[in-house]
Amino acid sequence: MRYISTRGTAPVLTFDMATLGGLAGDGGLYLPERWPTLTAGQITALRGASYVDTAVAVMAPFTEGVIAPEDLRALCAQAYGRFAHGAVTPLVQLDAQHWLLELFHGPTLAFKDVALQLLGLLFERFLAGSDQQLTVVGATSGDTGSAAIDALAGRAGVDVFMLHPKGRVSDVQRRQMTTVLAPNIHNIAIDGSFDDAQALVKAMFNTPEFAGRFTLSAVNSINWARLMAQIVYYFYAAVRLGAPERPVAFSVPTGNFGDVFAGYVAAKMGLPVARLIVATNVNDILHRALSTGDYSAGTVTPTQSPSMDIQVSSNFERLLFDLSGRDGAATAAQMAGFEARRAMALTDAQRAGAAALFSSDRIDADNMALGMRWAYEFAGQIIDPHTAIGLAAARRAGLARDIPVVTLATAHPAKFRDAVERATGARPSIPARIGDLFEREERFATLPASFADITAYVAERATPRA
Ligand SMILES: *Cc1c(COP(=O)(O)O)cnc(C)c1O
Repeated sequence: MRYISTRGTAPVLTFDMATLGGLAGDGGLYLPERWPTLTAGQITALRGASYVDTAVAVMAPFTEGVIAPEDLRALCAQAYGRFAHGAVTPLVQLDAQHWLLELFHGPTLAFKDVALQLLGLLFERFLAGSDQQLTVVGATSGDTGSAAIDALAGRAGVDVFMLHPKGRVSDVQRRQMTTVLAPNIHNIAIDGSFDDAQALVKAMFNTPEFAGRFTLSAVNSINWARLMAQIVYYFYAAVRLGAPERPVAFSVPTGNFGDVFAGYVAAKMGLPVARLIVATNVNDILHRALSTGDYSAGTVTPTQSPSMDIQVSSNFERLLFDLSGRDGAATAAQMAGFEARRAMALTDAQRAGAAALFSSDRIDADNMALGMRWAYEFAGQIIDPHTAIGLAAARRAGLARDIPVVTLATAHPAKFRDAVERATGARPSIPARIGDLFEREERFATLPASFADITAYVAERATPRA
């Protein structure tokens, strides 16, 4: 499989190069040049398959030519062997129609482990035997940073510079990053929002005088390999609920549009997905874009679901590209317009294409808390604020009663104990596997959200290109 950029002019790459590179040189994002499909028979054959077997069946077409299936199996077995649940991503039934898909049994308690544990191993494999030193730069609204740091700490050939918005991630999230003292890990708190952090990272890639000095790489969901790993659990869940005979809907707490885009890819690959519900908090650019066609960024409002406090959703570009006949020049023009005005209108074709599969909802703080209380009081489940947004949207989506609706449970409630306690009165306990988090030493730098300051800091510590 070969990989092309959404903006049409960056070089076509193999899977390993697309994985190591992250963002395309033309400012676009890499995508496979076509969507592979699984037949109904191949999907039926996934019944009873383990998570690792499902992962190999779903991902092999994307890694073809670069990783042999038996090697892919070994990598998946290693990555998912670190999960604390035998099913890796178990389903929990809430009532006659609603399920939770628990994606938070990895080492840092958020769904991002599913992709990043694998990505860390892919980096190591692709760098082995080369004298390249990779400089990973990333922006995090909380969970990406901790999951990436866990996956990459101490790995040879990789330095990690992770920017987080100071004071806008939970104490558990911050400590999961800042207490990792491995010398290849550099945490930077910036005085600004997540969008500021993400813009700084994009600017590093897009400034040749800086990018040319280092071998830069990304672990944000702009990295295709991350999205690829997330396609797997849509298949895993849907097959358990009756696919391919029975279509299944998913409700996805959404920020950067990575997780729900993986659901779109699953549908493109042949999985019968009845609907993808894009659930946002009050930072609702995606809800506005999908319901009215108006993709215009406001300012970020901090909420109790910080991993969704995003106004610019990078991965939305991948959808816009796919829905406009994969016209790279048109996507480049549309995105240039957005970058200039912080606003753009979806075309009629994009709106119609999106409406065929997606719906959306905006869940405010009160409805988030109601979702959390409903799960606790009627189904005995303590859920985190992000999951509660997905569940609240799922419950008012008005889907036919015979369609199972799976809400992606994206974080363990212990990551957001204060918000959970406020809504339910129950204080989730921290799982034993991250037990001593609050006793560990923290280390991070604090910098202004300025390109000059951040790049100077990175340049002093990163290894220049050979
Ligand atoms: C990252 C994250 C999200 C948003 O996922 P995207 O792929 O950015 O849309 C939702 N919930 C939690 C807990 C997250 O960490």
